[in-house]
Amino acid sequence: MLLSHSDTIRWIQRYRDLIADNVDELNKLDAAIGDGDFGASMQRGLNAVVAVLGPGEPDSIGKLLHTVGTTLVSAMGGTSGPLVGTVFTKMARVVGDVDAVEASALVVAFRAAADGVGVLGGAERGDKTMLDSLLPAVEAMEAVVGGDHTLQTVLHSAAEAARTGAERTIELHARKGRASYVGSGGVGCIDPGATGMRYMFAALHDVVGEGIHYSEGTQ
Ligand code: ADP
Ligand code: MG
Repeated sequence: MLLSHSDTIRWIQRYRDLIADNVDELNKLDAAIGDGDFGASMQRGLNAVVAVLGPGEPDSIGKLLHTVGTTLVSAMGGTSGPLVGTVFTKMARVVGDVDAVEASALVVAFRAAADGVGVLGGAERGDKTMLDSLLPAVEAMEAVVGGDHTLQTVLHSAAEAARTGAERTIELHARKGRASYVGSGGVGCIDPGATGMRYMFAALHDVVGEGIHYSEGTQ
């Protein structure tokens, strides 16, 4: 099974919906260790993205992901806007002008995304940032891709690892962003950015897991 162009659009729409459903939770997580705007920023960014996507437009997965990334950067702002935007612009470059993406290419694209976030933000694993769900998800996918696994099971691993990674940020001491200025380093609080990434993978798994849009001739 491949990730199709329409799957990609449905992924972004589902991500928007999951963020909308959890916007208060994300704001509260950010209020505890930051300034309380993370949910609202993500919601504003993804609403802007969905507004610029037309049916079948942009017409390749690479162009689509590039538009998602650049729109998030300009509509979100804050610390997280450029970082979340980078996830999509890096993926766009790896994926290129195609109508469908195999699991192996998707995993390479997510690895480039995680590396790009690391370079841009200078954070490492364990610093209590969005990388603490993004990196475990990438590693989980890398561990299973290529075997007998379908795209669904690869994305299931990613969604589970991102969820666990986000939850485990509760134990971490923040070394980047506003949370690093909180006296406790945010220990005892879940990181909002890591939670936002968790929803990104959950959305992709939801869409592909439905299994409705199989590309023709493939399993
Ligand atoms: P702010 O309100 O401080 O501008 P946001 O609310 O937009 O920041 O985003 C906060 C989230 O950004 C954090 O929960 C964290 O996951 C993420 N973050 C902050 N700094 C970095 C960094 N250097 N690298 C990766 N992620 C970061
Ligand atoms: Mg904030």
